[in-house]
Amino acid sequence: MGWLQGVNQKVIRGILLSAVTAALFVSGCSSDSDKVNEPKEVSAQGQSISKEEARKQLISGNERFQSGKVIHHDLSEQKHLELAKAQHPFAIVLSCSDSRVPPELVFDQGLGDLFVVRSAGHVLSPETIGSIEYAVEHLHTPYLVVLGHESCGAVKATVEGGHPSGSIGAVTDHIKPVVENVKTKGIDQEELTEKAADENVRQTVAALRKSPIIADAIANGKLAIAGAKYQMISGKVNWLD
Ligand SMILES: [Zn+2]
Repeated sequence: MGWLQGVNQKVIRGILLSAVTAALFVSGCSSDSDKVNEPKEVSAQGQSISKEEARKQLISGNERFQSGKVIHHDLSEQKHLELAKAQHPFAIVLSCSDSRVPPELVFDQGLGDLFVVRSAGHVLSPETIGSIEYAVEHLHTPYLVVLGHESCGAVKATVEGGHPSGSIGAVTDHIKPVVENVKTKGIDQEELTEKAADENVRQTVAALRKSPIIADAIANGKLAIAGAKYQMISGKVNWLD
């Protein structure tokens, strides 16, 4: 009973909060310059948004991130209550674990918007592929991005070679064939690292296309997949296809 009362109070507080927010919107007190800080009114709905719209939202989010004019995302109690019922992320992002490339920040998205899977060098494993397949099959998320980045430590370590300790070698072993594929005579390590990072994105996209669940969703027009690379200094995401 006490628990139920707690929930009811939460719901009532959420309703009051939304009523206050609605009153503020209706009163027309927000100017164009205020809009940057307004909460996003509706989170993207993975089940209703198109592939094209999903890509547009990622592009515009990255433009906001680059300009520093990011949205104040809805972190209200009401939003938490809504998300507690279900998630409808509009995009899946497979990215490197690098702390400088967090997908929600880079694409300026809020709670429940992105289904994020990360590993160093975005290397694939049955677990990472399975996580992505879950979002495609059960959450009906319409867009999948493989996000690599400049100065990737995992790719750099692979280019430098040697014998990494622990299980780090499992990561570099994955990237090794990619590096060999783009290696040319006389290429310096920095250039090779960037070329290999691009190729790593492309090969990861190609490998994901081989998943029957992903391939079916693409064939049925329910999913689009793309590769992209994040530029460290500008903050820009360059689409590789
Ligand atoms: Zn990286």
